[in-house]
Amino acid sequence: MAENIERPGAQEWVPQGAGVDALREAAPACRGCELWEPATQVVFSAGNPSAPVALVGEQPGDQEDLRGIPFVGPAGQLLQRAMEEAGLAREDVYVTNAVKHFRFAPRGKRRIHATPEAAHVTACKPWLVAELAAVAPRVVVCLGATAVRSLLGTQVKVMRDRGTPMVRETSTGTTTFLVTAHPSSVLRVPDDARDAAYAALVADLAVVADLAAGRAPEAVAPAPPAPAPAQEQLAAQEELPVGGAGS
Ligand code: SF4
Repeated sequence: MAENIERPGAQEWVPQGAGVDALREAAPACRGCELWEPATQVVFSAGNPSAPVALVGEQPGDQEDLRGIPFVGPAGQLLQRAMEEAGLAREDVYVTNAVKHFRFAPRGKRRIHATPEAAHVTACKPWLVAELAAVAPRVVVCLGATAVRSLLGTQVKVMRDRGTPMVRETSTGTTTFLVTAHPSSVLRVPDDARDAAYAALVADLAVVADLAAGRAPEAVAPAPPAPAPAQEQLAAQEELPVGGAGS
C-alpha cells in the first residue's frame, strides 16, 4: 500500500457524546481512512443499543457491505446459531465491528476479503470507542484478533486467552472483556476440525451468556495480561473509554 494515503482517523466525524442512532447517522460521511471509497457503504452496527453484551468483530464482509448490516453473511449465520446454542439471547446483544468499511481485493468480479491493517483499526477506533461509551455494555466480546488488537492490544492472544473473562475498570463502570475466535475462522478450519472449533465458540459464548445473566462464570479469573508498552498505554488513555484496557 502506498505510503502517502491520507488517513486522518475518524475522530473529526464522530459526534461527541452521541447515542448510537446519531453515530449511525454520522458514520456515512467518515473519510477517516481510504476504505470508504471502494466499499458500497458504511456498515455500522445492529442489535440492542442498551444491551448488556457488545460483540465486536473485524469488519463487514461482502454481504454485509451490500446490505449495510453487520453479521448477515455466512459467519453471521454461524454466530447466530452458536449464540442460540450457548443461551445468549439476541436481544441481549449489540453487534459491531472494529472497522466499519469492507476492505477487499478485487479478483475478477469477486471481492476477496482483505484483513484490515493496524492503521485502519486505529483510524476507525473513534467510532468503536464512541459506541461502546453510548451502549455501556457490562460485557465486551472480542471476536478474533482484529477486535482484540483494537480494544485489548497485542499482548492478548485469541487462542491463549479465549474464554476467560478479564475484568477492567472503565469510564462506564466495571466492564468484563472476553476473547473468542471470529466465527469466520470456524468456517475456514478443515472439515475434520470444524466441529471442535464450533464447539469451542459455543463454549466461550456460554460464558458470555452466564455473565450477561449475572451468573459467576465457571472459569477462574485470569492474571491480567502483560502490561502494554508505555506508548501503547498512553494511546489507550487518550483513545479509550475503557481505561486500562490497552489499545
Ligand atoms: S473504515 Fe472507519 S475510519 Fe475508515 S472511512 Fe470507514 S468509518 Fe471512517
